[in-house]
Amino acid sequence: MDGGVDDSSIVASKMSNTVKVKIRPGNSLEFPAICVHCSRPASDQMPLKKRRGRLTRLIDVPLCAQCAAELRRKSGEEERRGRLGRFVAILAGILAAVIGYLISPDGISLLLRSVVALVLGSITGLLVLTYFQRRSLAAAHAEKLAILASARMTNFSWRATTFDFDNDDFAQRFATINESRLMEAAGNGASEH
Ligand SMILES: [Zn+2]
Repeated sequence: MDGGVDDSSIVASKMSNTVKVKIRPGNSLEFPAICVHCSRPASDQMPLKKRRGRLTRLIDVPLCAQCAAELRRKSGEEERRGRLGRFVAILAGILAAVIGYLISPDGISLLLRSVVALVLGSITGLLVLTYFQRRSLAAAHAEKLAILASARMTNFSWRATTFDFDNDDFAQRFATINESRLMEAAGNGASEH
């Protein structure tokens, strides 16, 4: 079972453009200087994250100031769920810490019991917080969700990464800039070395 939310929960509303490029971990990719969502001049970035097994790849795509501001903006419901999440996380953390302290064997030192309590409390608190963060994002403004869904890293390997862009203009410019790296998903018969 894979616990990640990654891309599967995000449904693309428009036709998407798939671009596959040859890129090894550690190498940097060039992106056009326009917003991945709306094509305005880019001044910010949005991180794309993709998990495959134990590997996670993180790549920043360009975003304009307006879209970046939209991503920072929270709906009332998002705020409410966020506050509730922090409150429940603290309560759950304290509860787990107390239980951890009580169930740790009497024979061990006070310090060790405290460490067990602290670790258990922190892990529980973080898990609860993560759960509520995901729930709170689901209540975001439609525009914010559209920006988040406008670019996706759909696959990656040790030598290639595949992107999906809703924005045709961005996808085309990205493919042009990285022409020498294009692989078959882009319909371009670039030869492999
Ligand atoms: Zn934009």
